[in-house]
Amino acid sequence: MIDRVDMRALPVEIRIQSFEEVNLGYRLEDAMLEASRCLHCKHQPCVSACPVGIDIPGFIKKVSENRLDEAYQVIFGASSLPAVCGRVCPQETQCEAVCVKGIKDKPVAIGHLERFVADHYYANEHNKTELFISNKKKVAIVGSGPAGLSCAHDLLDKGYHVDLYEALHEAGGVLTYGIPAFRLPKSIVKREVQSLLDRGCHIHFDVIIGKTLTIDDLHDMGYKAIFVATGAGLPKFMGIPGEMLSGVYSANEFLTRVNLMHAYEKNAMTPIKRGKRVAVIGGGNVALDAARCALRLGASIVYIIYRRSRSELPARLEEVIHAEEEGIIFKFLTQIKEIYGNDDGQVKSIRCVEMTLGENDASGRPRPIENPHKQKVIPIDEVIMAIGTTPNPLLIQSTQDLKATKHGCLIVNEQTMETSVPMIFAGGDVVTGSATVILAMEAGKKAAFTIDQRLSSNQ
Ligand SMILES: Cc1cc2nc3c(=O)[nH]c(=O)nc-3n(C[C@H](O)[C@H](O)[C@H](O)COP(=O)(O)OP(=O)(O)OC[C@H]3O[C@@H](n4cnc5c(N)ncnc54)[C@H](O)[C@@H]3O)c2cc1C
Repeated sequence: MIDRVDMRALPVEIRIQSFEEVNLGYRLEDAMLEASRCLHCKHQPCVSACPVGIDIPGFIKKVSENRLDEAYQVIFGASSLPAVCGRVCPQETQCEAVCVKGIKDKPVAIGHLERFVADHYYANEHNKTELFISNKKKVAIVGSGPAGLSCAHDLLDKGYHVDLYEALHEAGGVLTYGIPAFRLPKSIVKREVQSLLDRGCHIHFDVIIGKTLTIDDLHDMGYKAIFVATGAGLPKFMGIPGEMLSGVYSANEFLTRVNLMHAYEKNAMTPIKRGKRVAVIGGGNVALDAARCALRLGASIVYIIYRRSRSELPARLEEVIHAEEEGIIFKFLTQIKEIYGNDDGQVKSIRCVEMTLGENDASGRPRPIENPHKQKVIPIDEVIMAIGTTPNPLLIQSTQDLKATKHGCLIVNEQTMETSVPMIFAGGDVVTGSATVILAMEAGKKAAFTIDQRLSSNQ
């Protein structure tokens, strides 16, 4: 029996000093050995568990035979962002969760293999300019995160003229401004975006649809279909006393300053406060990313304040393990109630209450219940709120007849991804609320499929 091949990682003492990528990837011998663990079972549950349906056993077989370019083509046929997904997908709850090998042993490291194949492909010279044939039908995509990029990928395959409109000055959405470089180097995102540009996609930066241009303007510009993939970038706050004090950030703002504006670099134009004692509120990937950034910015103590227990943490398991190794302190079963400030209006401490877990709630997780008799005050000088986000209402408010839920998520037909307005489609976090990269990509693919069906039947 061959043990699952672990991925090498930067030593903790080095990684906490920099934004260098923590995981170091497989070597060829690691990848071939790990690929040889796949049982190639008949029912292939991993394929059904992958939202974009990658032929996982197919690409793994090619890795085991050292036919790496062919392995890449198998993945790329279904996924436009293999190097990204190999790094950030929650494989342990998707493909690897149902891996038959995992019943008696550890599952095959599908994500590590996907990452290896994509990195190997990009590291070797390939003819980047592919033949681009346009059918001259124009489609506009609003937002260049995973949903928009994946929709663009599939429409380009079918010969559409694809224009992406992006509010920021860089493409990638959360991949660029949210997930830190030590988890997802920005060169990887750029490389995957570049492969779309090489195939004829156009990206218009610094254009806010709903402000710079409206959806009606896009119609007037001749776009036959529009895919809205604007994500869920509006941070939630808790409404507790002290949230307006100086030293309280939303994770969104904190991470954007660090990742997009490189606030950690000397002489960066966009500044950031470097707290010494930092509390991050929440337990998802966003909270862990913020906590690990704060550590790298020089904090001497960083807490994750989470109201449930370790087993309910929504973050990817690998990130939890890395955060623990790096010295992030998890305060489980703890709820923040109030933030105290000093006379200058700066955060000085937080008051928390202890929780216990009750029956499962509507989310299927145990309901946290406060124990008002167990309270504590913790000295803190920076608080980062990472308790979720909702879609920014700008585009919805500026477009007539677009229907949204009370949480501001666009309502679509789940089969076609069409909104309440004909030929306007939507997908990704703007529909689901904050979710995952691969679900956003799946939505982009579904929309591309319908757009093609509609436009090719309207010759
Ligand atoms: C810090 C962080 C860490 C995460 N970690 C993981 C992880 O490890 N694994 C995972 O699977 N998921 C993770 N997620 C979730 C994942 O990144 C999102 O679910 C995914 O990016 C959603 O993709 P999207 O394309 O719908 O939206 P986004 O990625 O948000 O992209 C939307 C894009 O639209 C642009 N935009 C918005 N409004 C307009 C407008 N009016 N006009 C033009 N452009 C506009 C935005 O600037 C942005 O570029 C993380 C999220 C965050 C915030």
